[in-house]
Amino acid sequence: MLVDRFGRSITYLRVSVTDRCNFRCVYCMPPDGIKWQPNESIMRFEEIAAVVRVAAGLGVRKVRLTGGEPLVRLGLPSLVRMIAEIPGIEDISLTTNGILLEKMAAELKDAGLKRVNVSLDTLNPEKFRRLTRWGTLEDVWQGIQAAEEAGLAPVKINAVVVRGYNESDVVDLARLTLERGWQVRFIEMMPFAGATELQLRQVVTAGEIQERIQAELGPLQAANGGELDGEARLFRLKGAQGEIGFISSVTVPFCAACTRARLTADGRLRLCLLRDGEVDLLSPLRAGASLEELRQIILDGVWYKPWGHGLAEGVIPLNRVMSEIGG
Ligand code: SAM
Repeated sequence: MLVDRFGRSITYLRVSVTDRCNFRCVYCMPPDGIKWQPNESIMRFEEIAAVVRVAAGLGVRKVRLTGGEPLVRLGLPSLVRMIAEIPGIEDISLTTNGILLEKMAAELKDAGLKRVNVSLDTLNPEKFRRLTRWGTLEDVWQGIQAAEEAGLAPVKINAVVVRGYNESDVVDLARLTLERGWQVRFIEMMPFAGATELQLRQVVTAGEIQERIQAELGPLQAANGGELDGEARLFRLKGAQGEIGFISSVTVPFCAACTRARLTADGRLRLCLLRDGEVDLLSPLRAGASLEELRQIILDGVWYKPWGHGLAEGVIPLNRVMSEIGG
């Protein structure tokens, strides 16, 4: 089993399938984007599947595909199918900006995808454009509908809240849960290389978001018995169909309960989202390492998973921007 030296079991692998993205969100990427990795540095589907197979043999049960924007990776449904067939994998989900989801939802479901998280930070088209720089709200909304119709449920909406951009929009997003069985999750903005200035100065805390919602929509009642659901603490408005989650990675970190590791698009195992350390899996794989050798590299890497992030001490990950890691 994959266990670190603090006794945490790693059962959840988040796989970035590309560093490319068709948005330029202000909290994620610098305005001019980043220099994409050359194609030959990006893991091929067979290589990703090999890593997932080894990880599944070590107890990983959940896989989430992310990016960049995972839906810009050509042929993604074939990767979903390959992963769905790996013994031990019980859950495959996807995090997407939703722009290509309308076209792809049914095919992804058919390939074995279970659920999607769609990033949506505001219901106001102009603010949406200002936040994503490139996106169109209507397309994303169509994508969410298509996901629901395809049975990729329950739909989860991820909203990053940025002061000066969308802090007042949290109320309209929360209101969605009254009529729909969605989980709307508010994420505290985290700092990375590239967009650090804004990320440090314009954070809106989960506490403030909660106050804004309660002031307009009434009290939030703890859901899920007050337990964390993954990284989110869940609540419900009176009479609501869906739930509201808060991911307070900055103000109330959940590192002690972390069960995850990340695989970057260029084949590095990243053990903490907010720390630079990574273990190269792709080079040994391409140099002919056996699956047994790969297994040992993963076991050793996980053993040294950092205890938690160091944001409170001013430690900010600088080797990659968020879109290169996958969130
Ligand atoms: N392109 C996909 C999408 O938009 O969901 C997947 C990749 S994106 C990097 C994954 C998640 O990270 C999104 O929900 C995004 O909002 C979130 N994210 C990006 N930058 C962030 C930051 N600085 N702090 C917190 N969350 C961030």
